[in-house]
Amino acid sequence: MRGWIAQSLAHLRQEAARSADTHLLKLTFPGFPGIDFYFKDEAAHPTGSLKHRLARSLYLYALCNGRLRPGQPVVDASSGSTAISEAWFARLLGLQFTAVMPACTAPRKIADVQALGGHCDLVEDPAQVYERAAWHAAQGACHLDQFGLAERATDWRGNNNIAESIIGQLAGEPHPEPTWIVCGAGTGGTSATIGRYLRYRSLRTGLCVADPQGSAFIHGWRERDRAATCSSSTVIEGIGRPRVEPGFLFDVVDEVVDVPDKASIAGMRLLEEHLGRRYGGSSGTNLVGCLRLATRMRAQGKTGSIVSLLCDPGERYDRTLYDQAWLAQRGLDASGAEAALRATLGSGEWHEP
Ligand SMILES: *Cc1c(COP(=O)(O)O)cnc(C)c1O
Repeated sequence: MRGWIAQSLAHLRQEAARSADTHLLKLTFPGFPGIDFYFKDEAAHPTGSLKHRLARSLYLYALCNGRLRPGQPVVDASSGSTAISEAWFARLLGLQFTAVMPACTAPRKIADVQALGGHCDLVEDPAQVYERAAWHAAQGACHLDQFGLAERATDWRGNNNIAESIIGQLAGEPHPEPTWIVCGAGTGGTSATIGRYLRYRSLRTGLCVADPQGSAFIHGWRERDRAATCSSSTVIEGIGRPRVEPGFLFDVVDEVVDVPDKASIAGMRLLEEHLGRRYGGSSGTNLVGCLRLATRMRAQGKTGSIVSLLCDPGERYDRTLYDQAWLAQRGLDASGAEAALRATLGSGEWHEP
């Protein structure tokens, strides 16, 4: 058992050594002179999303806690990105993996999990994923439990976590201490890691969570209510959870911005225009959050930098968010929101998308 754990840890160490850090891409917009925008390209990970970091941490955590045994099947609940990364690491370690996902998950993500040798157990209601994953665990699978453990499996003080990487990459920039870092909330792991790290390093940077309008996190954070649930569903995958996940720490978040789905879709399109590459819906949500804060900085006559994340690649949503017919069927015409965001980018004044 100890021998197998040591061997598995060696595989994970080798994988980390083969992987490079992700790029921090810089953008400026005519309406915001003196404000620099940076986007950390988490789509550049081998498994295409920020969940590559989390999946590696969750396997390490399960192994070092003695919870994962040789030949034991592995399960987790996911909206897709984590499942892809976990399936990839399961293959690396020679383990069988099952992803419990909502049936409405982008078809491309389901296909990616299967291509990596993972099984997909699809449930109709997104809120059922937790119970179904627990059922698999009761049958003997090791539950990686991203929603329960994201906040503690990641080493928030260092080990090149996402916050340490961002702050290191900004060292030579005009505003190395960002005014804001903006991220979404799925497991809450990213915001927990960034928020803790900012305090640990005594930085004055504010942490803003941008999440779909009506999400449980937005209600929960505003009322300090961990029992809050969502008041509307979202088509933006990875964020906008139906409940306040255990990994979401209210106290390290300084601000929340709620973003309608149409605005996130518009943001996603503007990112493609400015970066020449497609990213997923939650990256668009992040851009809208950045612009909201930037208009406020500009109104106060402040300069500085704002950092956010590109969470996953656009190809995963070819048949959903990037498909006009799919959007039309759901009444999601984002052209008005796109015009509003464009006006904000050009003028530096907030136009409600
Ligand atoms: C998980 C996820 C997020 C949010 O990150 P957390 O660390 O889980 O809060 C944002 N976007 C995408 C695409 C994700 O998969």
